[in-house]
Amino acid sequence: MKPLDEYKKKRRFSATPEPPPTTARSTSGRLFVVQKHRASHLHYDLRLEDGGVLKSWAVPKGPSLDPATKRLAMAVEDHPVDYAEFEGIIPEGEYGGGTVMVWDRGTYEIEGQTDVASALHKGELKFTLHGAKLKGSWVLVRTRNRQWLWIKHRDEYASTDDITVTNPTSVSTGRKLAEIAADEGGDAEKAATGDPASVPSVPTPKVRRARRAKA
Ligand code: MN
Repeated sequence: MKPLDEYKKKRRFSATPEPPPTTARSTSGRLFVVQKHRASHLHYDLRLEDGGVLKSWAVPKGPSLDPATKRLAMAVEDHPVDYAEFEGIIPEGEYGGGTVMVWDRGTYEIEGQTDVASALHKGELKFTLHGAKLKGSWVLVRTRNRQWLWIKHRDEYASTDDITVTNPTSVSTGRKLAEIAADEGGDAEKAATGDPASVPSVPTPKVRRARRAKA
């Protein structure tokens, strides 16, 4: 299979605004992005550039700064490097239909002497993130097949604060997930569901009822 074949096969580019499967490197060649994605469920997508593509993992609970917390990360298909810019709506009914936010972005460095491809092949990648939100040392460890654990190493950036709650907005536009959905013709109510950060700006019917009952 060619790079991005799986990415291409899963999508209809006549229907989705996601970038086409072209290979183009970033300037650093070591870009990373974490996208917050409300599809059927809210999750976060970790992507690390290597060899002209973004190696990608879907992380149901998102990153944790606490070294005691191991976050499940399911390896998914490689994405084009341009995907790191993508924030907006994937139409309902299309693959991954819902709202996508650029939650964090920056560059990363691999720790140690090996290259990224062989570290991933061996099932353990230690790396340093230089993001707006995520910084310092991390590791991805494969447990089986596509299943990995994403863990923060103990360093000055480790914390027990839940950064997905304290820092919920887009690093590129400052918007909450529901605001992206509302701005771009998506389903704002769906985008707010399960996202505590979005509830105040786009209340769900349940929240509206609760507020009326209080008033
Ligand atoms: Mn996703």
